[in-house]
Amino acid sequence: MRILLTNDDGIYAPGIAALKQCIEDLGEVTVVAPDIEQSGVGHSITFSYPLRIREVHLNNEFIGYGVRGSPADCVKLAICEIMKEGPDIVISGLNMGSNVGIHIFYSGTVAAAVEAAIMGFPSIAVSFDISGDYDDVQDAARVAKNVIGRILKHRLPKGSLLNVNIPSIPSDQMKGMRVTRQFAHDFQETFSKRIDPSGKAYYWLVGTDKSLHHEEGTDISAINEGYISVTPLRYDLTNYHLFQEVKDWNWDDITSYKENKE
Ligand code: MN
Repeated sequence: MRILLTNDDGIYAPGIAALKQCIEDLGEVTVVAPDIEQSGVGHSITFSYPLRIREVHLNNEFIGYGVRGSPADCVKLAICEIMKEGPDIVISGLNMGSNVGIHIFYSGTVAAAVEAAIMGFPSIAVSFDISGDYDDVQDAARVAKNVIGRILKHRLPKGSLLNVNIPSIPSDQMKGMRVTRQFAHDFQETFSKRIDPSGKAYYWLVGTDKSLHHEEGTDISAINEGYISVTPLRYDLTNYHLFQEVKDWNWDDITSYKENKE
């Protein structure tokens, strides 16, 4: 089995190294990842400057291909230029930090998996919640491997992907896994306002995983309760519930100049 492994934390990140080591016996792993951290870049792509691919060595060992671009760029380049044959599965992770709820829109980790799905390849995003005290990446990577192994026994339909989140506790304390839906409410995020040496204000976004809402059955409640969360996602964002209603609104004479004069 050919596995493309990518991430948004960068090719030198501990999560991708730990996951690579764990999944090496599942197949032939090709690592193509950003050469600097790209967390929070979402589904951005690069088209106004050139992309270069660099063979990356760590401790005299070839670890993969580094790309000065976004996670989505990495997936495109990996599939179009680096891998001779397309991957059987694309795995994005192991991200240090959960990707739940609205955060999946900002996530480069999830975007890489979405990009793979758009290109027609089955994909899984895997993230490790480190908001608690626990951050043993080796332990989380071993759990991630089990989850990936189970998923690989099944066929993912085209256009879909799985978003996996591992809770911030030791594996022997995890309660199991839950199939969840995306938490779709706001998170409590604020800006920390500071003053630079010249007296001007600047701002840091202070992200949290805390929300005013709590909702059973969601990705965030699962990891907060000690379960591995698996959320099936799709990239077709069409709101089919609203489709007919919007269609039924009055759209007569919409191109007429009369409208502008009223
Ligand atoms: Mn990241």
